[in-house]
Amino acid sequence: MTLFEKIVARQVPANIVAEGQDWLAFHDISPQAPVHVLIVPKKPIPRIGEASPEDGHVLAALMLAVQEVVKKLDVFQSGFRVVINNGGDGGETVPHLHVHVLGGRPLEWPPG
Ligand code: 5GP
Repeated sequence: MTLFEKIVARQVPANIVAEGQDWLAFHDISPQAPVHVLIVPKKPIPRIGEASPEDGHVLAALMLAVQEVVKKLDVFQSGFRVVINNGGDGGETVPHLHVHVLGGRPLEWPPG
């Protein structure tokens, strides 16, 4: 099982923000901004580059979950960033697809 599968299964503790049928949102253990949430599919898709057409409904659910998270954590109006890291150069460290939601401070662009 991946680390995030274990969090979904409540085998590893996490500070959960919200949950849907196909996804779970929880606070990142090492936040890079005042709001830093990970939204993960319950299905262990390794990374966005390996998602398949039949994962489409799960990918849509992850994107729509962003609204719920940012409204709940009060950064809907101030703005936020959605990031998916893929592979080595992309900065991926956990091989289970996850959407980073960052906010609560001005974020620089381009990222480092
Ligand atoms: P990546 O670098 O793969 O895009 O993002 C992985 C993220 O998972 C990192 O931001 C890291 O801080 C977070 N993370 C790693 N281990 C844990 C954990 O055990 N619990 C939580 N909540 N986040 C974790």
